[in-house]
Amino acid sequence: MANNKFVKQFPVTRLRTGMMQIGLVLAILFLIAKFNYLLFHVLVEFSGTAISLAIFLLAWNARKFSKNNYYLFFGMAFLASGTISLIHALTYRGMGVVAETTNDSNIATQLWLANQYILAATFVIAPFLLGKRLKSQSIILSYLAALVFALVAIFYWKIFPVAYAEGTGLTPFKKISEYAVAFSFLLSLFFFWKRQDLMEKRFFHLVAVTLSLFFFSTISFTLYVGVYSFPNELGHLLRVLAFYVSYLALVEYGLMRPYHSMFRELSESEKVLKEAKDEWERTFDSVPDLIAILDTKHTIRRVNRAMAERLGTSEGKCVGLHCYSCVHGSKEPIASCPHSLTLKDKKEHIAEVEEENLGGTFLVSTTPFFDDDGKLIGSVHVARDITERKKMEDKMADLAKFPDENPNPVLRMDKSGKILYQNPAANKLFSGLNESEKKNVTFSWKKEVEKAITHESEMTSELLVGEKYFSVMVAPIKGYSYANLYPMDITERKRMEMAKDEFISLASHQLRTPLASISLSSELLLRGISGKMDPGQKESLEDIHKSIKKMSLLVSNLLNVSRVEMGNFEINPETLPISHIVEDTIKDFLPLFEEKKLKLETKIGKEIAIRNFDANSFNIIFQNLLSNAIRYTPKSGSVSISLKRDESGILLSVADSGIGIPEEDAKKIFSKSYRAANARRKTSEGAGLGLYMVKIASERGGGKIWFESQEGKGTTFFVLFPE
Ligand code: ADP
Repeated sequence: MANNKFVKQFPVTRLRTGMMQIGLVLAILFLIAKFNYLLFHVLVEFSGTAISLAIFLLAWNARKFSKNNYYLFFGMAFLASGTISLIHALTYRGMGVVAETTNDSNIATQLWLANQYILAATFVIAPFLLGKRLKSQSIILSYLAALVFALVAIFYWKIFPVAYAEGTGLTPFKKISEYAVAFSFLLSLFFFWKRQDLMEKRFFHLVAVTLSLFFFSTISFTLYVGVYSFPNELGHLLRVLAFYVSYLALVEYGLMRPYHSMFRELSESEKVLKEAKDEWERTFDSVPDLIAILDTKHTIRRVNRAMAERLGTSEGKCVGLHCYSCVHGSKEPIASCPHSLTLKDKKEHIAEVEEENLGGTFLVSTTPFFDDDGKLIGSVHVARDITERKKMEDKMADLAKFPDENPNPVLRMDKSGKILYQNPAANKLFSGLNESEKKNVTFSWKKEVEKAITHESEMTSELLVGEKYFSVMVAPIKGYSYANLYPMDITERKRMEMAKDEFISLASHQLRTPLASISLSSELLLRGISGKMDPGQKESLEDIHKSIKKMSLLVSNLLNVSRVEMGNFEINPETLPISHIVEDTIKDFLPLFEEKKLKLETKIGKEIAIRNFDANSFNIIFQNLLSNAIRYTPKSGSVSISLKRDESGILLSVADSGIGIPEEDAKKIFSKSYRAANARRKTSEGAGLGLYMVKIASERGGGKIWFESQEGKGTTFFVLFPE
């Protein structure tokens, strides 16, 4: 602020006062001209020279404050001009200082013109140099060169065009030159006016006045009729005035203003500095990391707000304390202190530090800082609280171990069959396999992975790995071309199932033969081959026969299911005269119809045969459908059997007016061992194997099976055989 006051108090030369003073001087000079022209001329030229030198000295001294040497440019121009003016005055006709010029006006006139040219050139160039950085050396050298050249051209080489000829007076060269110079001043004014945005308004006004004076002064000289003429005197006086106004402009802007702007810049810098400091402090305090600035003796020089808060104190109270005592509560730096390392090697260090006093784990970095001579003076100690992150990382690491700890195999495989990950349990899986077995396993898994990715759903299949059975769940990962595989060893279960199937197969096989002979014997007995039976005996035999029928069907279903499970359910396609088979089977089942007093309707097409169908499969289909229709239809109900040829094949249908299949059971009705609730309620007879076998038998032979049913009303099963 003190600087600003100083700027305001600094005196600024006032144009008006100056003008009054110069007006007085000019008036005196004007009077002198009336008495002694030579004296007038000398005084006028000397005044010009004096002002020019003053301008030069000012500009020269002010050059340190000027950023772009603009005023030095004018200073040098006026120095050259002043020098030539001086010589011009001394060589003026009648002065007698230089013998050669005592009676010659040419040299003085030539010097005059040289001076005019230098000034005109300076002013024409000046507007274009506004705001540009000029090199002081180039300016000085250019003007000295121009000055020397002008003098040498006039005095030594004598190549300067003649400006005054004895007898004829001023030459056309001199006259044209004056017009050209006058025009140059106008041109300069025009250029300055165009570029006035680049200069202070007042400076432009002073320049405009200077140029106008130079212009009018030069124009006055073109009206020259003799040394004593008024235009000649006026020209000289206006010229002195022009020099004076130039001086004012240069004094004010070349000398005084630099201080002004220097102080202004200074106070602006101070403001900027303060703003920067405030901003730095704000930033320092708003950083959530704990920052401390430490010196080489581990003394805290500064802490930010976060650090002070964490230490439970204020920023100021930490300063001057040792960081190890303040932060760690110890008497010397802790072993893992990165600041100690930075002090040793002057490099940045980072360490993970667990500090109970601060309640957590911190990532601490220490960055060294140096004084201007490169000497280490401390470090910036930044501690970032990574307690939460650490906990998360530990958790993540723990979680990452999860599949490794899984006793069951877990793998990740991509579409190409490449195993991306396998846990230790999966490693064991492959350990006993040779290369080709491994290839087979990955190949079969790859196919499952492809399927699962294509269908975008989990799939489970039973696959063989070496000699073990695995149920492999394949879960595709959404958006990626790989899947996770969870194989589960099911070898034991599989073995038990196989043993069970084998047993069932064996048992049912063993039962079939005696059952068949009992069935045949009971039928023969019923037909009376061993004589007449009383009604009681007949009834008992009929019961035996019916039970044997049902049992045979059950044993046959058991045998067929075990064959399917063991993979040896064989199909021997042949041409089947099914209308006959259907009729024979119905006859076989007649006792069961009679027992329940069921009404039987048949619509059997004549001589219908299917090509390429297995006889056993057809029996499985028809016997089961018929036996179900009888079983699930209450007494006095009805059963209709139809066999016909239709456009799409041979259609067999078995309809009943029985209990029906509830809607909720419809989907599962063909599953192994499945029985609907209403059926279970009605009878415990039945093992849920019939429809399972019917579906397999129809589909393996190329047929299609479906049903329509309404609970409590009845059911119709349809089987469409290919012809
Ligand atoms: P089950 O030995 O129990 O008859 P099936 O496999 O032959 O076994 O039939 C499966 C289940 O389908 C039956 O338990 C029953 O719930 C239902 N079902 C089959 N046929 C009929 C039918 N005609 N009417 C009503 N329910 C039937």
